[in-house]
Amino acid sequence: MDRPGKIVCVGRNYRAHADELGHAVPKEPLIFLKPPSAVIADGEAIVLPAASRDVQHEGEIGVVLGSRLKAADERAARAAVGGVVCVNDVTARDLQNRDAQWTRAKGFDTFCPVGPRVLPAGPSFDLTGLEVLCRVNGAVRQHGRAQDMLFGIPALLAYISGVMTLEPGDLVATGTPAGVGPLAPGDVVEVEIPGVGVLRNPVVASA
Ligand code: MG
Repeated sequence: MDRPGKIVCVGRNYRAHADELGHAVPKEPLIFLKPPSAVIADGEAIVLPAASRDVQHEGEIGVVLGSRLKAADERAARAAVGGVVCVNDVTARDLQNRDAQWTRAKGFDTFCPVGPRVLPAGPSFDLTGLEVLCRVNGAVRQHGRAQDMLFGIPALLAYISGVMTLEPGDLVATGTPAGVGPLAPGDVVEVEIPGVGVLRNPVVASA
């Protein structure tokens, strides 16, 4: 896919994941940005930065905007969905806990694997039936269902569109389910959305 103009991420959108990090569930969506420079494709390496000792995988359902969206309601937001794609919201957990802003923890180069393809998701596509799995070296670490999101995809897009205009090609990462954990050099991490694809990336240490 083309590099998105912006990447809007949602934090703590599954109750079990908020619990595992010791956070209360948010009363409204918790959003942050990842820089487009963090995007890598299927097969490219996630580089562990020297600044972190605890880089973790976050398998997520990604939504790609098909049309412009501004201050929309949920119905218009649903109509603006262009497609669905696997995303890994790679996170330096130690830096996230140290910094009030998550820009550093979420923003290193290679920290946003996206792919392998965007599955078109028109009006008849059932977004609530989506599931996401994350495997490390073949072992399942995360398995979430869109129906377990605290805020569903149309609600997320509507909320975000009230803050910033979403443009065609923008990517929204809809939050990670429970089971996040560390990555080490030599690992292979996979994010799978059944029916959409498998995003597979090796992990290497910084040179
Ligand atoms: Mg995330």
